[in-house]
Amino acid sequence: MYSKTEFQDSSFIDDAEILSSLVEAKETAKDVGAVRAILDKARSCNGLTHREAAVLLEIDDPQLEHELYALAKEIKERIYGRRIVLFAPLYVANHCINGCVYCGFHAGNNAMCRKKLTMEEIDQEADAILALGHKRIAMEAGEDPVNIPLDYIIECMKRGDSIRRINVNIAATTVEEYRRLKAAEIGTFILFQETFHRPTYAKMHPKGPKSNYDWHTTALHRAQEGGIDDVGTGVLYGLYDYKYETVAQLLYAESLEKMCGVGPHTISVPRMREAEGVDMEKFPYLPTDEQFLRIIAVIRVATPYTGMILSTRETPETRRRALDLGISQVSAGSCTGIGGYHKEIGQPEQPDTAQFKVSDERTPDEVLTWLCEDGYIPSYCTACYRQGRTGDRFMSLAKSGQIRNICQPNALLTFKEYLIGYGSDHLKELGEKVIAGEVEKIPSDKIKTLTKERLHKLEEGAQDLYF
Ligand code: SF4
Ligand code: SF4
Repeated sequence: MYSKTEFQDSSFIDDAEILSSLVEAKETAKDVGAVRAILDKARSCNGLTHREAAVLLEIDDPQLEHELYALAKEIKERIYGRRIVLFAPLYVANHCINGCVYCGFHAGNNAMCRKKLTMEEIDQEADAILALGHKRIAMEAGEDPVNIPLDYIIECMKRGDSIRRINVNIAATTVEEYRRLKAAEIGTFILFQETFHRPTYAKMHPKGPKSNYDWHTTALHRAQEGGIDDVGTGVLYGLYDYKYETVAQLLYAESLEKMCGVGPHTISVPRMREAEGVDMEKFPYLPTDEQFLRIIAVIRVATPYTGMILSTRETPETRRRALDLGISQVSAGSCTGIGGYHKEIGQPEQPDTAQFKVSDERTPDEVLTWLCEDGYIPSYCTACYRQGRTGDRFMSLAKSGQIRNICQPNALLTFKEYLIGYGSDHLKELGEKVIAGEVEKIPSDKIKTLTKERLHKLEEGAQDLYF
């Protein structure tokens, strides 16, 4: 819903500042000492400015690149440990009045089969997602005030309340509607900017309410005003130059922190994918895999306390490398079609209702096995939101380094719960070894003892234990 009286001044996305940062960065990147000084600053885990981050996007010396990647990995592990949080997207409706040229749901795509789940189907989807072992979802819907009013989204959230955390990705709206989402116990409100570059934004959004750049770009500020203090952002890489977008994304994060007191809780890094009714030939800015990994490493060192999310748009190999460089949350076993889970768990999407084609079609069990084999701890933790550790409370724990002491035991407890309820024999054997080894690494003796007690309680039938 649009209101012309609400905050929508997007002048903090200053095109001249972004361009001048990029010009300056090209020169600074030639100075090895200056680059190392930026890396040293990042090592303190206090983040970087968009101007400093721009320099890291420009370096082409292989040794400096290697140092950047090693630092990204070090920072990620220092803050979050080896846990990787898992989630599943839940697409509830694909009606849309917008014309986003990169999305299979766009209004002009007559080949798309339009569908909106009934409440009974929401129940079935929630059951199917829970049967996969998931505890956290990202609820997704197109924009259509007639077919998908906010009341419908709130009703879906209520029906899915057996899922422990529901993040919501819907269109930009008013402070009052954000207040209603907050009252309905939303987890994170996620809204991708898609592109910060105004002329590209206009080209990509030729019609519908989303074509209003100012309204869209200030949505997370209004969400915070409405009381939602965990907000997630992201650009869709491939729409415009990735260096411009990354610098703008960081400028945006700085503005959110300055204006609202809390920066973004998560930054997602979706990259353009093929979709029904979308011609990939029209997207010359698609970053290569190497460029994409550089983006992830730079965002990680520039915003160390922000969760970074990667979806099944990427192949298993890209996902593996991205985890090393900064990704802290991944989707698994995703269906991007409407009602896909209860119809075909573990099988490919029905193409006629899907937003994009997934590149990683492995089941959650296969993804978890892969994570364990690579030395990660799969986590279904939703504890912070349920303990009221949101917004600045979460940030103070993250900035003091204490969050890792909570993430690690919670990862072990939720992974154990998964193994008991859903793990294959092979994963159970592997996972128990991971848990036994990792529990001994918990630095606090008190937390270690409590974690062992709680692991034991889970074996005896307890559920949903967390710190
Ligand atoms: Fe609609 Fe969102 Fe797709 Fe745009 S990206 S067409 S708003 S569903
Ligand atoms: Fe996320 Fe908090 Fe759980 Fe860590 S403890 S995984 S930050 S919810």
